[in-house]
Amino acid sequence: MDYKVVIVGAGPAGIFAALTLADLGIKGILLLEQGKDLSKRKRQNPEDRLCGWGGAGAFSDGKLTLSTEVGGVLKEFIEEKPLYELLKNTDEIYAANGAPDRIFGKSSPQLEELADRARMAGLELLPTRIRHIGTENCRAVLERFKNSLAGRVDIHTESEVQELIADHSRIQRVKLANGGSITTKFVIVAPGRSGARWMKKQAESLGLRTRATSVDIGVRVELSAPVLREITDTAYESKLVHYSKTFDDKVRTFCMNPYGEVVTEVNGGIVTVNGHSYADKRSENTNFAILVSSAFTEPFDDPIAYGHYIARLANLLGRGVIIQRLGDLLAGRRSTRERIDRCLTRPTLRDATPGDLSFVFPYRHLLSIIEMLQALEKIAPGVYSRHTLLYGVEVKFYSNRIDVSPEMETEIGNLFAIGDGAGITRGLLQASASGILAARAIAER
Ligand SMILES: Cc1cc2nc3c(=O)[nH]c(=O)nc-3n(C[C@H](O)[C@H](O)[C@H](O)COP(=O)(O)OP(=O)(O)OC[C@H]3O[C@@H](n4cnc5c(N)ncnc54)[C@H](O)[C@@H]3O)c2cc1C
Repeated sequence: MDYKVVIVGAGPAGIFAALTLADLGIKGILLLEQGKDLSKRKRQNPEDRLCGWGGAGAFSDGKLTLSTEVGGVLKEFIEEKPLYELLKNTDEIYAANGAPDRIFGKSSPQLEELADRARMAGLELLPTRIRHIGTENCRAVLERFKNSLAGRVDIHTESEVQELIADHSRIQRVKLANGGSITTKFVIVAPGRSGARWMKKQAESLGLRTRATSVDIGVRVELSAPVLREITDTAYESKLVHYSKTFDDKVRTFCMNPYGEVVTEVNGGIVTVNGHSYADKRSENTNFAILVSSAFTEPFDDPIAYGHYIARLANLLGRGVIIQRLGDLLAGRRSTRERIDRCLTRPTLRDATPGDLSFVFPYRHLLSIIEMLQALEKIAPGVYSRHTLLYGVEVKFYSNRIDVSPEMETEIGNLFAIGDGAGITRGLLQASASGILAARAIAER
């Protein structure tokens, strides 16, 4: 046996699995990461954005959402109260390693009043406590995790795992892309969204049961920060859910960035849009996503392919991301550079192409987005203004879900699957918590 435990992927899930095992006194742990060490990762290199020490969240602004309702499906495995405790402990580990102390969205009379107003506008406000690490602090936190593992866990970056090999329904070893092979008693796979395709292939060859989930498609909305100031001051990031009037589709706000910036993202050859904010640096705008969830049954059950198709259409028409004023969209005309220049909201993403999003989105999605903006207008006047900017498209793909036990063990003995790559989580805190669950189970054995 070369190692007792091999962990695949050094995103939050893999890192927290390693930290927990080491803290519980387990020796003989190897952490393998296909991407580069943190010091070598560069934001402008597309291959470094999602891969390397720290995983997909390394260049994010690190909003740690303390909620059992968002960021994953751990609530399907653990009761509400112990899950909340687990997430709280996970959050405290981030805080002990340099995440800022300030917590947003604590319950308060203002928050309750906002929730009431939201309900009257046909929106549900999900209560979420958020610790905002900030883009500039994320690297320091990840560096501290790495230093704390030094001497306790072997870490190999730029080490891609090619195959998981089992015998008699029990994991035996991992095969590396460089031809090497490592025998081990336990394997924890935490390959993230970027490793979802690889994970699907491994699941197929090991005979693991998986199921397709949904895809979330929508726009990034940008507006003048004062429009949402009352909400962002009260809740920082408000997670609002709406069931659209015409289609009864679930539409939600996601990733709200007060005084933040809109950015592009390259994902599997397509350019999509996202947003982030710094803890200490401010723009004059707030941005957030409006996403419409779509799931399919038969004969088509490939939500990832559907999301790619819509994003590729935007790229085809706009040679990248398209920007449009809400006023132009509602008037049935494209935005032009001149119209964007006259817009009171100054775009923080300058290289988006002024165009017409109605050529991109299916009627169902476009109408659901418009109806969501109308509902938001009732709690934050100014959202449904012609000066609101829409960037398209924003897509959230989720990995196929792998069947696991409450300990995160797959149907192959001693093989654990955690984090976003296993389709179990969708955010930093639940991904990290899933690593703790797998590590505790292994330490127990
Ligand atoms: C731009 C951006 C902003 C975000 N902002 C937030 C936020 O504010 N709050 C929040 O909660 N979430 C946020 N997220 C989501 C969050 O980053 C993820 O939910 C989280 O990183 C998932 O953790 P993970 O460990 O499961 O996977 P990942 O972080 O994706 O890590 C997986 C790692 O595994 C490696 N890997 C994959 N396959 C292999 C292989 N075969 N061999 C070796 N290594 C492999 C990958 O290189 C990667 O480094 C953001 C994501 C992005 C992209």
